[in-house]
Amino acid sequence: MAQFDAISLLRAPLGERLSSTFVGGRLAAARYALALAFVGAAIALTLVLQYFHVEHNRFQFYAAIAAAAWVGGAGPGCMAVVLSTLGIEYFFTAPFFNLAVAPHELPDFLTFIACAAISVTVSTRLRRAEHWLMEARQTLETTVAQRTAALTIEIAERERADRAREESETVLADTQAQLARVLRMATIAECAAVAHEVNQPLTAILANAGACLRSLERVPPALDLARDAVVGIANDGKRASAVISRIGALLRNRKPSIAPVDLNAIVREVLALVQSAADRDGVVIRTSLSRSLPPAAGDPVYLQQVLLNLVTNAIEAMREISDRRRVLTVRSRLTRSGSVLAEVEDTGIGLAAVDPDRMFDSFYTTKPEGLGMGLSISQSIITAHGGRLWATPGRVHGAVFHVALPVAAAPEV
Ligand code: ADP
Repeated sequence: MAQFDAISLLRAPLGERLSSTFVGGRLAAARYALALAFVGAAIALTLVLQYFHVEHNRFQFYAAIAAAAWVGGAGPGCMAVVLSTLGIEYFFTAPFFNLAVAPHELPDFLTFIACAAISVTVSTRLRRAEHWLMEARQTLETTVAQRTAALTIEIAERERADRAREESETVLADTQAQLARVLRMATIAECAAVAHEVNQPLTAILANAGACLRSLERVPPALDLARDAVVGIANDGKRASAVISRIGALLRNRKPSIAPVDLNAIVREVLALVQSAADRDGVVIRTSLSRSLPPAAGDPVYLQQVLLNLVTNAIEAMREISDRRRVLTVRSRLTRSGSVLAEVEDTGIGLAAVDPDRMFDSFYTTKPEGLGMGLSISQSIITAHGGRLWATPGRVHGAVFHVALPVAAAPEV
């Protein structure tokens, strides 16, 4: 109590403030003096009442005793009982100004002492209870303050750790996206090299066809030259065919290893890869993935490549859209015919300008920088899985690409 600070003292009720001030031993004399003052005030009040012929009672003395016990504790309370008893006996009990107790006054006198003693006991107990309550409150406040400080530090540390984790996750996602882009570029570079190789025999075929025509147009026709040109055409045709077969080999060399795969997990991986690209283009990504999707039969690496291609195409198709929200939605579900289906929908330019019969052909592209290999390779991959890849117009805008895969066979028991 002695260590209560000034603010808690000011906030405390008057009695509490007084009692707090007097506790601690240092102001013991003041507590007793205050008890004396309370009893003195009670005597003075009784004398005034007597002067005005108001029949006096002893309530003011009980009040003085209770106040002395409340403010000063048991010692000043007891002193107030003694002083009040003496005061009443001396001033207000016949014979007046005398401390002798007449025998007929004795029961009344003893009753007063008993009541006064009870008043001191009750006040002292109340005071002690209040004292304990205040101490408990202070301990509680101190504990709460300490815990709050500890919690604040912990929260700040967690926030710092969260920020660090978010930063490293962003760096990781960017790196993964870059890696995916590099892989994609590697595939594109391989295809570009193959395209270049196909182009050489095709140019030679065109040159030989021209030479053949010119030889035939001669009069008389130069049949030997025409035959040589046709032989050249046949040879170049074989060369072109060999190069084309190498494209197939390129895919075949990486034989898909078919196993049960979680298509939803692949979708999530792919979306994580393109997240920063989508953010940069202001594309909102939504998913609606079936929770009861059975495993599909597929090669996760190939399927990731296909979905990455579809999702990248979708983001690219929305690049020029400015009059509506750019939303990429990826759904998955089990179809009624028993296939595992993934759908990639966008709100982009749509398929109006695309030739639906050539869309999945090699080298078909409507983009200035496009190679036109993504959909063709994707379709080869999905067909090699025994599945199907096709496109439909979006419900309002854009396009939807559907990938249907067979459900993985149940493991043999
Ligand atoms: P590229 O992306 O290099 O053009 P693709 O084979 O991936 O090659 O795509 C072929 C063509 O199909 C694209 O040029 C484009 O015209 C069309 N296409 C593909 N995806 C979409 C789409 N989400 N929205 C509209 N058109 C698309």
